[in-house]
Amino acid sequence: MTMEKNQRIIYGIHTDNEGRCVHYHSEVDVVANMCAMCHKFYACYKCHDELEDHPFEPVESDEEATAMCGACGKLYSYKEYACLSKCTGCGHEFNPRCALHKSIYARTSDT
Ligand SMILES: [Zn+2]
Ligand SMILES: [Zn+2]
Ligand SMILES: [Zn+2]
Repeated sequence: MTMEKNQRIIYGIHTDNEGRCVHYHSEVDVVANMCAMCHKFYACYKCHDELEDHPFEPVESDEEATAMCGACGKLYSYKEYACLSKCTGCGHEFNPRCALHKSIYARTSDT
């Protein structure tokens, strides 16, 4: 499966073309996460909560294609993405501190 770069839609406030937003905009903040309720990729949960009428609904951590590299569009499950320090598709580095927000973006059975 190929995905055209320009078909990706990352929702958010002042998002750039790699998924950074008004809240998280360092070089490594390129990952977008899917909300289990509206199935849209958002740059971050804060953007989601400001633009949608429901709070960000976490996905199952092993559900396919719920996290996306904003730099190349490669899709991961949250679990796959969470143990990577950079994208296996394009090599772009991911923000290691995103793991701190795990409970917001994904449900987990292993605690
Ligand atoms: Zn939502
Ligand atoms: Zn944001
Ligand atoms: Zn990538």
